[in-house]
This record gives sequence, C-alpha cells and structure tokens, in this order.
Amino acid sequence: MAKRGMLIVLSGPSGVGKGTVRKALFEQPDVDFEYSTSMTTRKPREGEQNGVDYYFVSKEDFEDKIQNGEMLEYAKYVDNYYGTPIQYVNETLDKGKDVFLEIEVNGAMQVRANCPDAVFVFLTPPDLMELKHRLIGRGTDNMDVINKRIKTAVNEIRMMRNYDYAVLNDEVSLAVDRIKAIIRSERLRVNRVMPDYESMLGDN
Ligand code: 5GP
Repeated sequence: MAKRGMLIVLSGPSGVGKGTVRKALFEQPDVDFEYSTSMTTRKPREGEQNGVDYYFVSKEDFEDKIQNGEMLEYAKYVDNYYGTPIQYVNETLDKGKDVFLEIEVNGAMQVRANCPDAVFVFLTPPDLMELKHRLIGRGTDNMDVINKRIKTAVNEIRMMRNYDYAVLNDEVSLAVDRIKAIIRSERLRVNRVMPDYESMLGDN
C-alpha cells in the first residue's frame, strides 16, 4: 500500500499574498505536490475560471455540501463561503501524493483539529501598512470591504502561534523558496519516513 501523502496548509491574513505565492509556487518546474482547488460562493473575478481558480457554486449548493460532510473545512469570509472539498484531498493523499491547500485562518484551524499530521505554514506581511496598500492596489474591493479585511487581518496575525512555520512574504520568489525548503525538510521527518522501514523491521 502506498504511504499516505502529506497535507500542506498555507494560510495567513487576507491580502498578504497567499494566492500570488501559491500561483508562483505551482509555476515552478519541480513541483511534486497537488493543489486542491477550493469551492466558493463568491462571484468570479475578471479572468477567473471555474474549476481552475475555484469551483464557483451557489450558497444552496455549498450549504448542501456542508450538510453532507463533503467539506474538509469551510469558512464564511466577507459574506461568502470558501471551503475545501474533502474527496479530492483524501483520494490524492491515499495515492501517496502530497496535497497543498491555500486557505484562510479559520479553515486552517479546522484542518489542524482534524488532521494533526498536516504541516501549517503562516504567510506574514512585511507590515500592516503594506497590507493595506496591497488590498487597495488590487482595486477589486470597495473601501468598506478593505476596512473589514484589515480588521480581520489584525486578528489573524495573532493566530500565528498556532502554526508550525512563519514565512515572510517580502518577495514572492523568496517566500516560494522558503515554502519549498519547508516541504523538503518535512518529508525527511522520521515519523513520515518510518513507515517505509517498518515492514523491514518486522515490528508489527
Ligand atoms: P479571495 O476572495 O480573495 O479569492 O479569497 C478570500 C480568502 O479566502 C483568502 O484568504 C483565501 O486564502 C481564502 N480561501 C480560498 N479558498 C479557501 C478555502 O477553501 N477555505 C478557506 N477556509 N479559505 C479559503
């Protein structure tokens, strides 16, 4: 039986650049883990594709999936649902492949409670003013939404202590390198490697 894959969770405050870092990471030629596409009830932004950026669904569909236990985690964030469909994650991990999630902090804490073996990476902004500029610069949200997001972000930064690693996003390529280094080291942890040797030891 294939060794179960490792679940990697990238989280951090809104506007810190999680999406940008994740996209840059998956553009790397040596990526050997799978991205789990999230589901959301928010409307697609210009250029976003269903099934690529997100699975875009209605509120009713999303609530049905919650009821049916089809979400590994979900959160209501700025009036929309966001969540990780459980089936793809489990099937991919069962094949022995590592799975990468990019999610907000409430969802990450649900994964922490349900998947203690997962690796939790917190992406940190260089400073809070920078965060505000990025949100405004993105130009996709109005001031009300931006202020709501910043308030959320301050609370989220306090949650860093619940994570295994903090990755500074001062520059996207540096953040990507740091995440790759974390994944490389995590794969070498004895408790992850040990199952490969257990049959040889004949201990159980
Ligand atoms: P956006 O609307 O900017 O695409 O995403 C808003 C927030 O939702 C971001 O912080 C993003 O990381 C988070 N997010 C995206 N997918 C998921 C998901 O599947 N679960 C959770 N909990 N958050 C998500």
